[in-house]
Amino acid sequence: MQNLSENNMDRFAGMSIVDLARRHGTPFFAYDRAVIEKRVGELKQFDVIRYAQKASSNLGLLALMRKLGVVVDAVSAGEVERALRAGFRPDSNPPGIVFTADLFDADAAEAVRAHRLEVNVGSPDMITQVGKLYPGAPVILRINPGFGHGHSRKTNTGGEWSKHGIWHSQLEECLKLGREAGVKIHGLHMHIGSGTDFEHLAQVCGSMVRAAKLLGKDLEVISAGGGLPIPYRKEQPRIDTAAYFDLWDKARKEIEANAGRAVRLEVEPGRYLVAESCVLVTQIRSIKKVDGNVFYMVDAGFDTLVRPAMYGSYHGISVVAADGRALAEEQDVVVAGPLCESGDVFTQEEGGVVVTRRLPVARIGDYLVLHDAGAYGAAMSSNYNTRRLAPEILVADGRDTVIRARQTYDHILQFERIPDDLK
Ligand SMILES: *Cc1c(COP(=O)(O)O)cnc(C)c1O
Repeated sequence: MQNLSENNMDRFAGMSIVDLARRHGTPFFAYDRAVIEKRVGELKQFDVIRYAQKASSNLGLLALMRKLGVVVDAVSAGEVERALRAGFRPDSNPPGIVFTADLFDADAAEAVRAHRLEVNVGSPDMITQVGKLYPGAPVILRINPGFGHGHSRKTNTGGEWSKHGIWHSQLEECLKLGREAGVKIHGLHMHIGSGTDFEHLAQVCGSMVRAAKLLGKDLEVISAGGGLPIPYRKEQPRIDTAAYFDLWDKARKEIEANAGRAVRLEVEPGRYLVAESCVLVTQIRSIKKVDGNVFYMVDAGFDTLVRPAMYGSYHGISVVAADGRALAEEQDVVVAGPLCESGDVFTQEEGGVVVTRRLPVARIGDYLVLHDAGAYGAAMSSNYNTRRLAPEILVADGRDTVIRARQTYDHILQFERIPDDLK
């Protein structure tokens, strides 16, 4: 559901963007609850939807997920804390929280021990380690099937250069480690990133079927991982979630037939559930000509949304006139932020190549809306340049609720100290 007509939009989830901006100040993230509900609904065929909360982990969004019957994945002790505060229970069936990582840091080890978390392990050493944290721990093995898929080298999740998962040929060794450590290895997980390439996905499913044979009757759950793509560009196709499910369901049925028992099928999306629900609203504070180029200078930077600077990611952009005038004429512009850093440009491609975008002619004070900012947007924000984290607003039924207030400078500075002899 693309509820924003690109390049020209003035309403979001039924509310006026200008009103929202006046009330909350810019920049801010706004999430449309209805879009999240729709995306969850599209994956309801899976036995379990496990939200990879690292995509956008605000407590308000986690609470919404819980209400929708979704459980969560946590990749750090902090994410475990969030999940607990949002009401998820580690001991529910299926578990409300699963800890997934390729190593235990000290905080995570303590969280796993204290809350007796199920662990999705991505390195063989973790099997022995979790056995020491608490005996009998339920464990899922994350397998690297030997090939991967991802939209950049930084997001590729399989193959021999990926840091993620247990190399496929070490599975038997790991089952032995599990018996020695006294843990209960009862699941297999592959998070490869599917793209919309179903041939590739079929390969992943084939690997899962082969790996599952080694677990036999011990296998209770398989996870398809996440990586479901969304169309950041209008011309990109939308993933066929029914076909995606069918492929995995076919693998599951084959696994069930081999094992002679029922096997739960989980899916673990992050991006897919939240990306399209959210816009980042910024204000144009300056418009300048640099030789032949026009720059729209906005009040959000890569501290707010890092994806374009980090991956060369594309986000749709629209202009909203602050005074409600009609926007007709367009021009090619560069959109840049306030950071003291030349890479602080929203219109760039992989490798940092600055490009232009065709946008309506705007004025200072108009708003610039970046689309599909819900995944790895607010969650990857930073305080670089000592700028405050932007607020997050959840919009539903014509009502806006602040689910994260704008940060204060006290928040940013509270743990810093000036040594006595420098006072
Ligand atoms: C990041 C991650 C996901 C979610 O990835 P998306 O591309 O956002 O769907 C799922 N599972 C694991 C283990 C992850 O690390």
